[in-house]
Amino acid sequence: PGTLYVVATPIGNLDDISARALRVLREVKLIAAEDTRHSARLLQHFGIGTPLVACHEHNEREQGSRLVQRLLGGDDLALVSDAGTPLISDPGYHLVRNARAAGIRVVPVPGACALIAGLSASGLPSDRFVFEGFLPARSTARRQRLQAVAQEPRTLIFYEAPHRVLECLADLRELFGAERPAVLARELSKTFETIKGAPLGELHDWVAADSNQQRGECVLLVEGWQEPVGEEALSAEALRVLDLLLAELP
Ligand code: SAM
Repeated sequence: PGTLYVVATPIGNLDDISARALRVLREVKLIAAEDTRHSARLLQHFGIGTPLVACHEHNEREQGSRLVQRLLGGDDLALVSDAGTPLISDPGYHLVRNARAAGIRVVPVPGACALIAGLSASGLPSDRFVFEGFLPARSTARRQRLQAVAQEPRTLIFYEAPHRVLECLADLRELFGAERPAVLARELSKTFETIKGAPLGELHDWVAADSNQQRGECVLLVEGWQEPVGEEALSAEALRVLDLLLAELP
């Protein structure tokens, strides 16, 4: 059987494509793409003529079985998404799963990934982190999801649509506290790349005051919850008992 290559493409700056990615995209029989028109422009830029076929959210299951048949027939194929690493908040999961189940070799061709790029320059703890992907668009569901991770000690990473970033920061400020350190990484690898770190309250106000910060693509990173230390660590109950005891002292 052939090999399925999972190929990362740039998240903005076209120079971020790897030499290996270009070679693989040139050599495979067919490229399965999230959006063929979008990927056609990328291929054209690099003078690659490999045919494209659509493999997106809506046809991934049927298209996936067709592609697995081609792989079983001996063709090497590549999978790309519109930007960055396929399967990371992008299509490809069903294809990779089916290919592996059919005994096909799946080879990653690593490259750009917005969450890793953002984390690497954020200055937030990077030894352990949690990628939460996109938050739900609706407020109630979003707040529930945030509430569930409010005491997560590892660095939290979210993808967010530009027109929702302010709402999301408002919810984060309320549920995580205005003092929690956070970073907004916007337009990574592009002309207007901005990586702003500030406590959530300040970050919210900074974005609110500048509509440019509500455009383009962004990753939101929030420092994990830290066990309160010293006086803060005492529960309300402990403080109440302490008050009672202190009142008894001569
Ligand atoms: N597969 C991609 C990856 O590897 O990062 C992610 C695809 S997801 C559909 C798109 C989201 O990724 C955007 O809404 C944004 O949150 C983030 N993103 C993609 N490119 C970005 C960039 N250049 N700067 C900041 N965030 C970016």
